[in-house]
Amino acid sequence: MATIIDGKQMAASMRAEIKDKVAELKKTSGITPGLAVILVGDNPASKSYVTAKEKACAEAGIASFDCRIPESTTEAELLEIIEKFNNDAAVHGILVQLPLPSHINEDKIITAIHPDKDVDGFHPMNVGRMLIGEKCFLPCTPHGILQMLKRSGVKVAGAHAVVVGRSNIVGKPVACLLMQKSDLGNATVTLCHTRTRDLASFTRQADILIVASGHPNTVTADMVKPGAIVIDVGVNRVEDASAPRGYRLVGDVDFEGVKEVASLITPVPGGVGPMTITMLLYNTLESAQQSHAI
Ligand code: NAP
Repeated sequence: MATIIDGKQMAASMRAEIKDKVAELKKTSGITPGLAVILVGDNPASKSYVTAKEKACAEAGIASFDCRIPESTTEAELLEIIEKFNNDAAVHGILVQLPLPSHINEDKIITAIHPDKDVDGFHPMNVGRMLIGEKCFLPCTPHGILQMLKRSGVKVAGAHAVVVGRSNIVGKPVACLLMQKSDLGNATVTLCHTRTRDLASFTRQADILIVASGHPNTVTADMVKPGAIVIDVGVNRVEDASAPRGYRLVGDVDFEGVKEVASLITPVPGGVGPMTITMLLYNTLESAQQSHAI
């Protein structure tokens, strides 16, 4: 039976560390880290993510600049807002909540954010730096996963890490960070996707298995090596008439089955999610510290 990694508790202790550092920065430099949070439209999931991010900022002493604009906002208008935040010295990080409405080109928007304020770590400049192992803003979910492994005492170096999923925001960057020659990395990495033949034959070889497929039950108990460490990135809403909102959240892993086989496992909710927001605070603080150092 696996030990459950408590992402909520781990995130709370990291957030307390960040809060102390924010207070220290304010005291020594007068700088309050600031994060601009842009939400276009009113997608309910995006709204709840943005609200959670702003609440976490307030708790850590980070100023958030809330920018909620209608679905009908044009690409040119959004670019103008980003430019304004790029030039605002009180803003150290800019976050555009994805997905954007289909009439707006996401790549164009991500590239418009100044790389020094790209606290999501999605700008091609930061992605390139990450790939070659240079200092940069690391993308929040992958970095949160690595911090969870570290703080759970998992030895990543030399382990075989298997990643299921190759998105630009989770699968590719987590694989990249795990393979880096760094204290969080040095794993041997296999990356799987929908064209992988016989997924289970790979997942069963994993010492560390990271699942970001976007579908419940992508990984079941028979696909996991006994004693493996399983990180479930997925967040899926499944209908549940007995739940207060009519749905509940599940991951991409069959938690009930897999916890009987794994040695460590993250739950959903309360696993990777809280760490993702924490790393956003971490990057915003780092950006503010860098602005002070300049
Ligand atoms: P995505 O863009 O939909 O990508 C899913 C990836 O999984 C794709 O590369 C896809 O392969 C692969 N895949 C899907 N089904 C598969 C299968 N049966 N076997 C092997 N590979 C499969 O999703 P994402 O943005 O990476 O997000 C993944 C999950 O993580 C979602 O549930 C999302 O809600 C969640 N998420 C959570 C957080 C958090 O903070 N907790 C943050 C971000 C995302 P192809 O490329 O071949 O299509």
